[in-house]
Amino acid sequence: MKKIFIAGQWKLGRGKPTKSHYPADYSQNAEISTASVDDVNDAILAAEAAWRDPAWRNSLPSEKAAILFKAANLLEEKKTFLAKLQTRDNGKPISETTGLVNSAIATTRYIASCLETLDSELTNQRIQSVLTFTTYEPIGVVAAITPWNSPIASEIQKIVPALAGGNAVILKPAEATSLIALELAAIFEEAGLPAGLLSVLTGKGSVVGEAIVHHPLVQKISFTGSTSTGKHLAHVAADKLISTALELGGKSPTIVFADANIDMAVNGVIYGIFSSSGQACIAGSRLFVHQHIYDEFLDALVKKTKNIIVGDPEAPDTQMGPLISESHLKSVDDYVNMAKAEGGKVMAGGERLMSDGRDQGSYYAPTIITGLSNEAQVCQEEIFGPVLVVMPFSDEEALVAEANNSIYGLAAGIWTEDYRKALTTAKRLEAGTIWINTYKKFSIATPFSGHKESGVGKEKGRLGILDYMQTKSIFLNLDDTPNPWCEVK
Ligand code: NAD
Repeated sequence: MKKIFIAGQWKLGRGKPTKSHYPADYSQNAEISTASVDDVNDAILAAEAAWRDPAWRNSLPSEKAAILFKAANLLEEKKTFLAKLQTRDNGKPISETTGLVNSAIATTRYIASCLETLDSELTNQRIQSVLTFTTYEPIGVVAAITPWNSPIASEIQKIVPALAGGNAVILKPAEATSLIALELAAIFEEAGLPAGLLSVLTGKGSVVGEAIVHHPLVQKISFTGSTSTGKHLAHVAADKLISTALELGGKSPTIVFADANIDMAVNGVIYGIFSSSGQACIAGSRLFVHQHIYDEFLDALVKKTKNIIVGDPEAPDTQMGPLISESHLKSVDDYVNMAKAEGGKVMAGGERLMSDGRDQGSYYAPTIITGLSNEAQVCQEEIFGPVLVVMPFSDEEALVAEANNSIYGLAAGIWTEDYRKALTTAKRLEAGTIWINTYKKFSIATPFSGHKESGVGKEKGRLGILDYMQTKSIFLNLDDTPNPWCEVK
């Protein structure tokens, strides 16, 4: 049974144990203990003491950054192991998880460098005798709650800027994928992070997650997950009047104009929806193709999609692994059946894959559906699987309205050789990230956020640490004249 990291100590949690399985064949990876409500309380009390400890509070940015740089080096040393572990935990192909670990290393180094160079502001003087400056202070105990689809990236993206800001972090990973979070705890411990500043509390959202976010000492909720959970957490935060960063679901449109470079666009669209088996918040799941090139484009898209290598996640050339679980596979398949019932035509996939040993895991074929309008339920709801709906368009005004016709606003893709059209369309699309002639590119230096029901707040960026800090403005009087207001006239 795996121990968990509570208040700086490796212990068996007092909750009901859980298991991690490899979605490619359902062999067991580990049995993991989970936190109880008492464990949550112990971790949060220790976190509160740890971030208030003068040794941490008064440590220089360079001293905190040194711990982060050390953690980055340890991540790098353990890169192969961590990539394999994430593959075992959620079935993502090894090529992809290796990329995610690289991104986690780069994120940690980038944030450490930002911390070293983060200066406070000296504001312009408005009163001659008073000097004003603004400092940034930690918020306190931060709850970091993450989903199962890219644990290492989403966890590092929260832990590192929160620690850089001088806070303590309570990390609650998804129940299905806790192994990376526990390794991260070991890495930060080895890097010299003082005890209590990071706890990893495994377990169910409805038990452990609820206990964490409701705890009075938790002062920020940094959450990545579904829109429904995000809305619930926004209510919890509103009651406590604490801040949130909510990175939620998506149903992102991709637009291919008639003048697009077809070869580039076909590859980009396929990567945008089918990498991660479509289990990505930014998956480009609604595709609008100009009528003039629709047949040619669809033909190329279907041919290439049928050649995607779906199989053993540990094989280096695998492009798509299994879905996370049988219940998720059923949900994806239900959506495909719903699309058919709504009049959709399946041009590729549309079924689970059982051949070549894939009957042991939750494999689903990359699926392309045509014949539906944007109003169809499968175009309005997030499927979070390898399902693409392709729709033709001719009128560009109507197209923008259709692309924006969604409760979500996470990302969008545009394929055209006309940069004026690309930029004017980008301005009109309601989404936090727009990719032009590319898709699913990320940079820790570039802020990431969702519009509409895709989220509130942002992550990343050079000043991302400040999202985990609060300001304090100090007015320093340089004059020694008593305030004339008090003088008797
Ligand atoms: P989920 O909302 O079910 O769970 C996410 C996390 O929240 C898990 O750790 C879960 O245990 C916890 N949780 C659930 N209920 C809770 C509660 N009541 N209180 C506290 N914590 C609770 O989401 P999921 O199914 O794990 O992930 C898939 C979703 O995540 C998709 O909608 C996807 O689009 C979204 N996502 C968004 C981004 C982004 O950056 N916008 C990135 C990845 C995934």
